[in-house]
Amino acid sequence: MNTPFNNYLTNLEKAAKILNLSEKETAALREPNKVIEKKISVALDSGEQKEFNAYRVQFNNARGPYKGGIRFHPAADISEVKALAALMAVKCATVNIPFGGGKGGVQCNPKELSAGELEKVARAWARAMADDIGVDKDIPAPDVYTTPEIMAYILDEYEKIKGRSEPGLITGKPIDLGGSLGRGTATAQGAVYVLEELIKMLGKEQGQLTVAIQGFGNAGYFAANILHNLGYKIVAVSDSKGGIYNATGLNPVEIMKIKEEQGSVTNAAGAQIITNEEILTCDCDILIPAALDNQIREDNTAAVKAGIILEISNGPTTPAADKILREKGVVVVPDVLANAGGVTVSYFEWVQNRMGYYWTEEEVFAKLKPIMVKAFQDIWRFAEEKKIALRDAAFILAVERIVKAMRLRGRV
Ligand code: NAD
Repeated sequence: MNTPFNNYLTNLEKAAKILNLSEKETAALREPNKVIEKKISVALDSGEQKEFNAYRVQFNNARGPYKGGIRFHPAADISEVKALAALMAVKCATVNIPFGGGKGGVQCNPKELSAGELEKVARAWARAMADDIGVDKDIPAPDVYTTPEIMAYILDEYEKIKGRSEPGLITGKPIDLGGSLGRGTATAQGAVYVLEELIKMLGKEQGQLTVAIQGFGNAGYFAANILHNLGYKIVAVSDSKGGIYNATGLNPVEIMKIKEEQGSVTNAAGAQIITNEEILTCDCDILIPAALDNQIREDNTAAVKAGIILEISNGPTTPAADKILREKGVVVVPDVLANAGGVTVSYFEWVQNRMGYYWTEEEVFAKLKPIMVKAFQDIWRFAEEKKIALRDAAFILAVERIVKAMRLRGRV
């Protein structure tokens, strides 16, 4: 079954075989170091006391403290959180930043909770996890349906419990509480740095390449905007209600205005309405999934027309689809590389918090670019040399780094 965790295991086993890892070494990467599952209880506005499942999965910390977001979602179960924690360990190693991997969640429907109830959930999560997280231990961040404001509540609750200031406990904070400039656009910007390098390697003219983007949220919208400003032609975008296609190009700022005013990109005039399935197979040079996992699957891959897929969302392509795409000659830039700009600027936030000294946005991006470019080049060269896909190359290089750290610690 294509669960996110099974997809991780498939990629891990491939890497382990090529790296000749021992059974003990591979086994250490099949399961998390620690799984924390707790019940948290919150008084709702109605006066009712409600229990929620709260999680933190600490996958691997051989390369540094656990790092990864907290998701508030009805489907945030332990299996999903485990997969996301594993991918964080691989992602941090892919871009070579000194963190391990972790992930957290609360199984709840944030759309049914008031702002006050969400604050209580955040504070209860912090109380439940206070002894397991920390600036040198495990550093959470936002993920689906959690925001800088939620990070502020978690930080505040944690600092009250510990009786000290510790801004580096958590990243993705509001700027006024020690958040980093540039964090909002970092994921999209990092992905664009990688795409530009890839286009150079492929010897393509960046000029009028056409782009389709599934998901017009934080990551998808900023990617559309940055690419539009660089001269790419954005021909299709979508949100949860559907998508639009216009071969002559769309202006992301105008489309966002319509989405904000009328609720969806599909209300834009003068474009053809398409479904979220059709956007994956529309006429374009570059396809950017920036919404959900498991979108590009065995059943729809044959119809994909793009020559490049830039995975901004986590886990959008199944392993079976990956195989077909490679046979078709489609270059897939894997999530662990393409969207790693976000965690890299989270790392910068943690560094700035520890120094108590803050960088300008220009400084942040000047530091982000070489990290993304180097990660891409290492992966590209390795993939060319071994005649393997970029995802396999990224996994192998990352797993090699994690295992090296585990060996140095005498853990395997
Ligand atoms: P977001 O919530 O801001 O945006 C998600 C977008 O997807 C919205 O436009 C929403 O309408 C759309 N969407 C929801 N359901 C959809 C569906 N069925 N079909 C098509 N679109 C749908 O989220 P985000 O922060 O932009 O994250 C998007 C993806 O990128 C996620 O997979 C996330 O894990 C990944 N990612 C984000 C970051 C980051 O820094 N934001 C970092 C790394 C990875």
